[in-house]
Amino acid sequence: METREQRNERHKKAMQRKKQHVDERIAAAVIDKGLLLVLTGNGKGKSSSAFGMVARSVGHGLRCGVVQFIKGQWVCGEHLLFSSHPLVEFYVMNTGFTWDTQDREGDIAAAEKTWAHAEQLLRNPEVKVVVLDELTYMLTYGYLDHTKVLDALKQRPTDQHVIVTGRNANDQLIAIADTVSEINDVKHAFNAGVRVQSGIDY
Ligand code: ATP
Ligand code: MG
Repeated sequence: METREQRNERHKKAMQRKKQHVDERIAAAVIDKGLLLVLTGNGKGKSSSAFGMVARSVGHGLRCGVVQFIKGQWVCGEHLLFSSHPLVEFYVMNTGFTWDTQDREGDIAAAEKTWAHAEQLLRNPEVKVVVLDELTYMLTYGYLDHTKVLDALKQRPTDQHVIVTGRNANDQLIAIADTVSEINDVKHAFNAGVRVQSGIDY
């Protein structure tokens, strides 16, 4: 049977091999560039992750822009925190959820108006991080033109990071993205009758 010393020695060797492998991969990653991140899927954590990156960026003194394409029922903590922050420009689409408004023409007009803010941010090299929260729905519903959106993303400043959130990200968007995470809905408290909780859900 393996002694305690042998077990510890085997563990040490395995960790050394792992460290060498990780160090080699870190040494090989030498590119700096503005990233396009897409956070999609049916699970919870897309927008909150995007705002986590805004918090990190602001911590580093980077100028950020946020455009929220769907305005929720509740005043979000991220809006309360960041909208008055000198490093953050924050725009919220001025209609409610699409299933609340039931007004396609009005929604399209609101989407276009909101997109104009996004375009401005995507043209501004001073803005280092842009969040386009719930943008995918504007594409799924056909409220915004795919080509126009993809072109603006492709033509942004080369060092600008963009984070797009929302379910059902389409293949074209995924194709031009650098990092794509699909968050799986394993469980959500809402389905057990728990109402939205401030700080966690909004
Ligand atoms: P969050 O903003 O919490 O990161 P999200 O951006 O991933 O969530 P959205 O689809 O934008 O998810 O939904 C926003 C709201 O709906 C949040 O209050 C969130 O907790 C809730 N929610 C997200 N996913 C689910 C789900 N699978 N079932 C029920 N409610 C959900
Ligand atoms: Mg969201």
